Amino acid sequence: MQLACRDLGMDCDHVVTGDTVAEIKQKALAHAQEVHADMLRSMTPEQMAGMDQFLESKIT
Ligand SMILES: [Zn+2]
Repeated sequence: MQLACRDLGMDCDHVVTGDTVAEIKQKALAHAQEVHADMLRSMTPEQMAGMDQFLESKIT
């Protein structure tokens, strides 16, 4: 399974891979906190709340 940062609308070539949805979400969050901290800070609580489902919908 994988999740491409680009699929989330980011101008970034990072791709997260893992065996489970939970693993990918955890890695994606760690990557976002490290590289896209500004983006995370600019998100509203509503956007954050929908992030989980959004991430899951983009995992292939
Ligand atoms: Zn990225």
